[in-house]
This record gives sequence, C-alpha cells and structure tokens, in this order.
Amino acid sequence: MKCYDCTQEVREGTVAIGVCSGCGLFTCQDHSDVVAVPVARLNGLGTSHRRAPARTVVCRTCRAAGTAH
Ligand SMILES: [Zn+2]
Ligand SMILES: [Zn+2]
Repeated sequence: MKCYDCTQEVREGTVAIGVCSGCGLFTCQDHSDVVAVPVARLNGLGTSHRRAPARTVVCRTCRAAGTAH
C-alpha cells in the first residue's frame, strides 16, 4: 500500500505503515504518528484491570486538525 500523502507529493518508494484512525487513509511513517491511547472502558462493575495503553495511527493532517483520538 502507498501512503496517501506521499501519493499527493508524488514521492516514490514509501510504504504505508498503517491506516489513520481519523480519515482512514493509508499513511507512512513520515506522514503519521503512532500515539498511545489509554484504554478507559467502563464495564459497569467498577473494576479496572491494569492494561497497557492501546495505540493508534494518526496522519499528520488529522493530528493537526485534532479530529483523531
Ligand atoms: Zn507518506
Ligand atoms: Zn488522517
């Protein structure tokens, strides 16, 4: 898969590392950040298991726009 932003810039040779959680486009390492997402899901029982944060890929455009979590 090709990175969407690289395609726009006509950059060749980059490989997408994931899918942006904001816009759903493929994005490469240069055009995205992998951010930690704390898992805060309440199950109604009041117990929280200690878990490592999840992670998500956010492209630069979405990160700048603040639309992704
Ligand atoms: Zn790219
Ligand atoms: Zn995006």
